[in-house]
Amino acid sequence: MSSKKNSLTRFIFILIDGAPYQIFKELVADGTLPNIKKYVIDRGSIKKAVSVFPSTTGPAFIPFFMGLFPGTANIPGIRWLSKTKFQNPHRFLRPGVCSYMGIDGVSFNADLPAKPTLFNFFSSVSNIYNLLTSGCPPSKDRTRFLKPLVYTYAHFSHQWKFVHAIASRKLLKAVEAGDKFVMCLFSGVDAYSHFSHTQSSLVIDAYREIDQTVGKVCRILQQSGDFDNTLILITSDHGMTNTHTHIDIARHLDKSGWCCLHHPLPWRHNARCASMVSGNGMAHIYFKSEPNRWGERLSFERLSQMGVVETLLELNGLDFVAGQSEDGSIIVQKSTGQGKIAYANGMISYQFNRVDPLRYGIPYENLSFRDALIQTYDSAYPDGLVQLWQLFQSERTGDLVLSAQPGYDLRARYEYPEHHATHGALIAEQMVVPLAVNLPIDTEFIRTVDLFPTILSAFGYSIQDNPIDGQVIR
Ligand SMILES: [Zn+2]
Repeated sequence: MSSKKNSLTRFIFILIDGAPYQIFKELVADGTLPNIKKYVIDRGSIKKAVSVFPSTTGPAFIPFFMGLFPGTANIPGIRWLSKTKFQNPHRFLRPGVCSYMGIDGVSFNADLPAKPTLFNFFSSVSNIYNLLTSGCPPSKDRTRFLKPLVYTYAHFSHQWKFVHAIASRKLLKAVEAGDKFVMCLFSGVDAYSHFSHTQSSLVIDAYREIDQTVGKVCRILQQSGDFDNTLILITSDHGMTNTHTHIDIARHLDKSGWCCLHHPLPWRHNARCASMVSGNGMAHIYFKSEPNRWGERLSFERLSQMGVVETLLELNGLDFVAGQSEDGSIIVQKSTGQGKIAYANGMISYQFNRVDPLRYGIPYENLSFRDALIQTYDSAYPDGLVQLWQLFQSERTGDLVLSAQPGYDLRARYEYPEHHATHGALIAEQMVVPLAVNLPIDTEFIRTVDLFPTILSAFGYSIQDNPIDGQVIR
């Protein structure tokens, strides 16, 4: 990114929660987003980037701010359970079982690894609504008191327009104040998509509001003479697909004799397993190794012998079940075939039996992470090999990981408002996001995890002493 790196002094980062690449691109093409087109894309690029698995808010923010995969950061979902740290029956202790959707939201930053974030590299910063605030001085987290009230009100009243209006006002104020790094999250597209569908008039209006704000931001930058030395990045944490059927994972496991602990009932007695759903297109499933002990992660082979894998594959709309083999490799199972992802010396290999569950159709031998991205970029499961591998590096990842087919999600009860759109899964429509940036980017192959080192490099920072998952892209 950037041939004029030395002249960059300011960075505006706009994150549109839940903007699918395809829809965003069409809105640019049909003239719905004229300011983003004129001020950002026409001066730079619009690219497709691959997010992370699970493709969900929270875990999928970590790549942008820290250059880490959710598995590396040990935050493998918006809900998770730690088998080794589970504290039953001390229900008020953490960690053990977690939902960042509830009270644990306040622990998100404390759960992150102690590593630098984007906020640490800029002298004056502003944060608006984004939950990853590690490195941001509290006084510069401009919505820290407002967000819990405003989001709760909007969640129950569906008034996300008002949330966007506050975001826009705070963003313009921070830009006017001359802050070097301004981070602004717009949640309306995600919220209205869940509430209606991915292209409802409510959703399109939310995109329009963001576009109008971008126009105002750019005019302020022009007036202050900063327009040419400001990096403007507009992207998303995940895509979305419309949902027609909710799969009740917890009830299915209950009925099959596996009493299932799940939110909002994380303290069920006699639980034999747990389901922790994200997005709601993915879920971590954990099984007790003994009647009263969660123990260590159970191998895929053992879970197959217990009949659990078959039980789950009975579910119509469940895309695949993944787990870790006794030899450490990652197994992806569908009823029609099995794939195996092996990792050695920084290289990824892939084999399959019968029908390839990831639909690549060819085995791979010793691919670098970069080549694994390139080979699978335009497939149904972009970056699927590395994404499945990284997720199982987290101690909090389930014994099994489930991903839903488009049209389905994995949470049938206790969701208000009912979700009519879904993300979280490994499928392309939920994994790929738009990347609009006012500087040219040459490569066609981008992970969101690459943006952290790439942005820092554009501002002249090197982070060689800090091992991360992302790479500088050009
Ligand atoms: Zn969402």
